Amino acid sequence: MKILTFDIEDWWVYEHYKIGKKEDWLPRLDDYLDRILDLLDERNFKATFFILGEVAKSAPTVVRKIDERGHHIGCHSYSHKFLGDATPDEVIVDTKMALDVIADVIGRRVDAYRAPAFSITEGNKWVLSLLAENGIKYDCSIFPATRSYGGFPSYKSCCPSMIEQNGVSIKEFPMAPTTIFGRDIVYSGGGYFRLFPYMKIKSLTRQEDYVMTYFHIKDFDYAQERIYRSFKGEVALLRYIKKYYGLKGCFSKFCRLVSEFDFVSVEQADKMIDWDQQPLLKL
Ligand SMILES: [Zn+2]
Repeated sequence: MKILTFDIEDWWVYEHYKIGKKEDWLPRLDDYLDRILDLLDERNFKATFFILGEVAKSAPTVVRKIDERGHHIGCHSYSHKFLGDATPDEVIVDTKMALDVIADVIGRRVDAYRAPAFSITEGNKWVLSLLAENGIKYDCSIFPATRSYGGFPSYKSCCPSMIEQNGVSIKEFPMAPTTIFGRDIVYSGGGYFRLFPYMKIKSLTRQEDYVMTYFHIKDFDYAQERIYRSFKGEVALLRYIKKYYGLKGCFSKFCRLVSEFDFVSVEQADKMIDWDQQPLLKL
């Protein structure tokens, strides 16, 4: 199965902490959203949209627009602070605040979560039980390999799995890295989706049984403001290349992918899975 997900955050979310007020920067959240929603309607696909709490607060009409088109709504934290950089109390407050504000906007509690930058790791796996205790049935936060931020290399399952943690259960839909040139990478979103030619993405997508995508509006937005600066120890040039390489043409690449393969939301995928046959992991 191939699962289509989006993280709905504004383009400045990784940098705004240190470059002045976010209000100073042009919000570009909505530019591609209508085209994405129309494309999904044409294909009769539903996707899971992980909404940042700050977006639900500042742009509730955007969230309602997605919800009214029948898509599965999840939570992407409130502030986008990486969970590894936050204290347990900050994680608890951020999570509950995000779940409450999204519920206020769409009129019901959400049941899916993705941490900012896949930042549920070996060191903070207790967050999974916090999520389960707050009504989350599906987590999509685990990146089972090493990565710049986040990453959970000791997590050994790359398919949907049931997790038991601290006496509660949650269904995990992890990212599914592919090994290329000895490196575990995910091509189904973010930098590698922009970097790889479409035919490479197509062949990888075709050969995998389980594909978890993660797209952002900023992955498609060629006209976005560019920022040249280091971030979390990454030198500015490398950061710039990783963030902006391949932006031009990325949206048409996405359109081709969605046209040539069938996708489902996390909620739909759950119904297709025989959970008795999936791994049970006790963390
Ligand atoms: Zn994010």
